[in-house]
Amino acid sequence: MTNPVPSATSRSKRVPTAQVVSRFVWAALSSRHNPLLAQMVVTRRCNLSCGYCNEYDEYSQAISVTRLGAQIAALKRLRTAVVTCTGGEPLLHPQIADVIGEIRRHDMIATMITNGYRLNRERIARLNESGLLEMQISIDNLQPDDSSMKSLSSVEKKLALLAEFAQFKVNINSVLGISEERTEEVLVVAERARQYGFHHSVGILHDGNGALKPLSDRQFRVYRELMNTYGSFLHRLNHCLFQRNLVAGKSNNWKCRAGARYLYICEDGMVHWCSQRRGYPGIPLLEYTRDDISREFDTRKRCSANCTLSCVHQISAFDEWRRPQSRPDPLSSS
Ligand code: SF4
Ligand code: SF4
Repeated sequence: MTNPVPSATSRSKRVPTAQVVSRFVWAALSSRHNPLLAQMVVTRRCNLSCGYCNEYDEYSQAISVTRLGAQIAALKRLRTAVVTCTGGEPLLHPQIADVIGEIRRHDMIATMITNGYRLNRERIARLNESGLLEMQISIDNLQPDDSSMKSLSSVEKKLALLAEFAQFKVNINSVLGISEERTEEVLVVAERARQYGFHHSVGILHDGNGALKPLSDRQFRVYRELMNTYGSFLHRLNHCLFQRNLVAGKSNNWKCRAGARYLYICEDGMVHWCSQRRGYPGIPLLEYTRDDISREFDTRKRCSANCTLSCVHQISAFDEWRRPQSRPDPLSSS
């Protein structure tokens, strides 16, 4: 028997979706050099240690609010639309609600990615007050194992709290391809997300270069079932943009706008293409200019054919119609 779940409709404040969408679309259309999404690491430290992850350590300190504030001001100067706090685990940052509030004070949309372990009623209340628009919680299986500790059993009570008290949107994202024998567990996670009134999306496991690890037949079947039964707007968008080809063993021909429309800001405050192509351009965000954006906008990425990074695919779709990128990948000969 499944546990009764509180209804998500008990949330009192609703996000003004039309305003968010119109602001985002305006940022996309008014200049091709406006960054649409910046993912900003607020601490590299994580409270978990998932076997497939290369984005955390066990010792880094939280980045000071003063430094993050300067980075947020720089993102505003570049006319960024959305800032996502990421890590490591952002909820390990003792002032994460203040960081979100600072993003909102600069009139940018604020979201975050978390494993959810540190959520409690007080933190949810602070995040409500901060103006957070959306929280993405990663849940890959039912019980933690060496590959992924992001498990439904570990955060089930947190989901109930969110359903009752959160005034921001919640999306549950599950990564497929981590484990063969536990593949079907993602279906249970998706069903639970639906019961709570949350959205559910699916990521595909990537290797250390952001590229696809091929799905097995069993994983492919579950991917199809997720799509047909639970497919949220985001899942369907990802399917159309790139997952459809990748899960069928085909590559994609697209123009990755990392370093331009999408920025990844590491714990040292440097701009990188993405979490899986760290090291380039490697320019401090505080010194990043529209000229840098223009250059990276026109730069081809050698890793694009099999890339699984859904947020970069989504953001890049706005400019897919433009002329081919003329500048070769500066690292293609290395
Ligand atoms: S919770 Fe996220 S950041 Fe932490 S180890 Fe797992 S995948 Fe990496
Ligand atoms: S194609 Fe773009 S987003 Fe994907 S791994 Fe390469 S640089 Fe990163």
